[in-house]
Amino acid sequence: MAAIFIMNTHEYWMKLALKEAEKALMENEIPIGAVLVKNDVLIMSAHNRTRQLNNSLAHAEKLMIDEIVASQKKFLNDYSLYVTIEPCLMCAGMIIWARIGKLIFGAYDQKAGAVGSVYNVLLDKSFNHHPKIISGVCEDQAKLLIQNFFQQRRKRRVAGVVERDGLENRCGFTSTQGSNP
Ligand SMILES: [Zn+2]
Repeated sequence: MAAIFIMNTHEYWMKLALKEAEKALMENEIPIGAVLVKNDVLIMSAHNRTRQLNNSLAHAEKLMIDEIVASQKKFLNDYSLYVTIEPCLMCAGMIIWARIGKLIFGAYDQKAGAVGSVYNVLLDKSFNHHPKIISGVCEDQAKLLIQNFFQQRRKRRVAGVVERDGLENRCGFTSTQGSNP
């Protein structure tokens, strides 16, 4: 009898989001990636581009939601958003206003996450949209990418290659990584 391989759908899409995060890493951006999926079809993918666009708001989720809401649909109830790191307050707000149906993310962001870490706006009863939420998909890989990125940056900063530029304050993966240089 032939073995039947059943792929975990969430892992499949999250791995695509991780590929986006790797692209960000290659571009010296904070390695966070995301994909937008509808009816098991990939609609869009993106990664953080705050440096390239010189725009502190150019988060992976925001880039996709902005584009699709502007060009195609006002509300995205039938879309699933996969993102490697817990969304921030801005992106969580966008998830509510765009009415994204499902949010799947990898690792929590203890310093800036708005889906349980610092705030939990998606479960706030004050709002009238509450997406389904799944966390921890490919968590270790997502976390490792971020940790390695900041470790490398710290080494380069100690060596005088890069200046402290405030990026660390925007992402919560530095405080657990040993002493500050
Ligand atoms: Zn964000």
